[in-house]
Amino acid sequence: MDLGHLLHLLIPSTTSVAILALFFAYLAIAGSTLPGKLVPGAVLQDGSRLHYRCNGLISLLILAGILGAASKLDIVSLTVIADRGLELLSTTFLFSFLVALVLYAVGCKSSNRCSSLKPHVSGNLLDDWWFGIQLNPQFMGIDLKFFFVRAGMMGWLFINLSIFARSVQEGTMSQSMVLFQLFCALYILDYFIHEEYMTSTWDIIAERLGFMLVFGDLVWIPFTFSIQGWWLLSNKVELRTAAVIANCFTFVIGYLVFRGANKQKHVFKKDPKAPIWGKPPRVIGGKLLASGYWGIARHCNYLGDLLLALSFSLPCGMSSPVPYFYPIYLLILLIWRERRDEARCAEKYREIWAEYRRLVPWRILPYVY
Ligand code: NDP
Repeated sequence: MDLGHLLHLLIPSTTSVAILALFFAYLAIAGSTLPGKLVPGAVLQDGSRLHYRCNGLISLLILAGILGAASKLDIVSLTVIADRGLELLSTTFLFSFLVALVLYAVGCKSSNRCSSLKPHVSGNLLDDWWFGIQLNPQFMGIDLKFFFVRAGMMGWLFINLSIFARSVQEGTMSQSMVLFQLFCALYILDYFIHEEYMTSTWDIIAERLGFMLVFGDLVWIPFTFSIQGWWLLSNKVELRTAAVIANCFTFVIGYLVFRGANKQKHVFKKDPKAPIWGKPPRVIGGKLLASGYWGIARHCNYLGDLLLALSFSLPCGMSSPVPYFYPIYLLILLIWRERRDEARCAEKYREIWAEYRRLVPWRILPYVY
């Protein structure tokens, strides 16, 4: 493909703008009208708490149903996302860029002093636009941070499904494509089943909303986590049975560690006395959990996520590094993130964090790191 053709494919069309607008409109309407558990967020510095309506799963299933019916009636083509991948990518990128500018401008004007909306302006325009200046900006009553993560995770699934539809249409569907699709779909569905756990994650409780998060949620997650699928469309892979078994094993172990660790922390935050693996939990200073996965490594949940990321790439075999973009990126991100979280917790919990470090010396992978 020459550069001119590539640039042409990147130009946003009215169709890609319409797809994005309809997707966001649907999510906004579904998010504010469909039933869902109302989950209180973390207690903010000023003692206030935001509440999140966790109706992502039902929103996803209804949207999938609408798209399935629309394709049966020939109103929508299931391959439209795969056919227009590049222009959707550039449209979403431009949208993220503009949204971050608007967030910056609106945040600067805000005179609100509550923790979720108080502007933190450093004076460095680039920094403020990149990291954001408000913790939880809202639009028409919608918490934008929660909204964008949801859009990104759903977008990832719909891109994958569209790639799958194209592989069926082109007759290139393979065992590798099925494995990749299956693992990602299970991971994304699991995310929505446990959407309430998102309310206690670092992004939601500690990160301000700027270009970094908006771009990360809307562009990075859906478009780069699906690279393996795009790659499989034009590359054939023969997998041995042993490789398929190893791949499934990596996924299952990764899932058990990832979900188990995140669940244990979530349950612990709600009820610090709840049993962990059938025994009373070991708690440091009344605040930090040091049993279960949290007694094996201080961020076992990252280890689980890394194994899962690897399992999404293993179906592509070993002939190219391209499908391994996601696990490699995630490894770098989670090591960086673990360092930032460690610094935050050391400052917040002081001597009890030092005690936790003594008891649980490993950061992510016992005996290695
Ligand atoms: P965590 O869910 O690990 O949250 C870290 C926070 O948990 C800390 O700041 C602290 O917050 C609390 N905490 C830490 N240790 C303990 C303990 N022992 N006992 C009690 N509380 C503790 O981090 P993230 O939000 O970064 O990650 C959540 C999940 O999302 C992970 O599984 C991660 O892999 C995944 N993720 C995936 C990404 C991707 O691109 N696929 C990107 C980023 C994350 P507090 O002040 O509340 O106590």
